[in-house]
Amino acid sequence: MVKLAEWQGKNVFRKYGVALPRGEVAHSPDEAEALVRTGKVPLPCVVKAQVLAGGRGKGGAVRFANSPEEARAQATAILGLEFKGEKVREVLLEEKLAIGREVYLSLTLDRTQRLPLLIASAKGGVEIESVADSEIDRQTVDPFPGLTSYEKRRVAKVFGLSGGPARSLDRLLDSLWQVFQREDAELVEINPLAVVGDGLVALDAKVIIEDDASFRHPEYAEVRDDRTELEEIAREKEIAFVQLDGNIGVIANGAGLTMATLDVLKELGGAPGVFLDLGGTDDPTKVTEAFLLMSRARPASVFLNIFGGVTRCDTVAKGLVEAMRQVPPSERFPLIARIRGNNEKEGIEILRSAGVTSVSDLRASAQAAVDAARGHP
Ligand code: GDP
Ligand code: MN
Repeated sequence: MVKLAEWQGKNVFRKYGVALPRGEVAHSPDEAEALVRTGKVPLPCVVKAQVLAGGRGKGGAVRFANSPEEARAQATAILGLEFKGEKVREVLLEEKLAIGREVYLSLTLDRTQRLPLLIASAKGGVEIESVADSEIDRQTVDPFPGLTSYEKRRVAKVFGLSGGPARSLDRLLDSLWQVFQREDAELVEINPLAVVGDGLVALDAKVIIEDDASFRHPEYAEVRDDRTELEEIAREKEIAFVQLDGNIGVIANGAGLTMATLDVLKELGGAPGVFLDLGGTDDPTKVTEAFLLMSRARPASVFLNIFGGVTRCDTVAKGLVEAMRQVPPSERFPLIARIRGNNEKEGIEILRSAGVTSVSDLRASAQAAVDAARGHP
């Protein structure tokens, strides 16, 4: 997922003509103070942590300042925070607007109905999670005509807007729709959207770009996201690799079997730490690469659970044996294998020749992986 930080989302909004408070990003207290002193950011101003997690308003990561000194002090406080596990590396300073009202507006995908979904609520702001469902309006949008005046009027009604503000809303909704479509977003959210006189100003921006469309958007390639270093390498090699909190490595094939394997390990008291989905590949080079990546995550034990359908057990086994040879002795780990299906016998034989026994029973093999990891960090 390509999640844009607030300031990045706002840069996108600006391109599409969404009204925004004047603002600039700072990476240090010095920079924050200078932005105010030089008038680049007018006073009073808001100082906001640029993290991907929500709930900043409630968590003390959105603050206000009335002087350059105060801007510095607030930036110092926020830049020192670790907000919900994320280190704050930058703050956004913006003019503090006199807000009439705060409403909520977003476009996302309704995966069940397979349509864009336009969500609006008159009760925007930091309490959006606790707003009753009946006070949140949802309408699906036909992607071919896009947003029509019907949908726009309905949002105006939800917000209780007419005249000038309703016309601003019309333009805003057009911009929002364009962001959603042209940027291949899976979420475009403005909360709060502030009613300021006749205008509507986006005080916050949350934009998530659909991963599968990221090839169309090289401009987002540099966007920081939550991938670990190994996950990043895996992504470049097109290996499905995810790091979790536990210490057992899982190599399986197919999303279903991989998830089921994680569940079984958990049920038996184990803690999966990395999983790797070989998908439909049985290309030995690819298997080797995947295995070496797994070893770099330093798992306490690895459970290999392969079902040979399209994938052939013997080629997977070959790749594994080759990979095991390349792992330095200091980094080896207990490997518990279970390979079944297409060319099972040959696969088991190849593993056996490398000293790995395949246990055909799922519980027994998973239990062995859990036992082997026990007592390891
Ligand atoms: P979030 O809590 O992480 O979603 O952060 P937001 O960007 O939504 O900010 C939280 C709250 O700070 C908002 O609901 C507003 O009440 C307030 N806020 C943010 N920007 C401004 C601003 O420019 N002017 C005023 N008056 N309040 C603001
Ligand atoms: Mn918000």
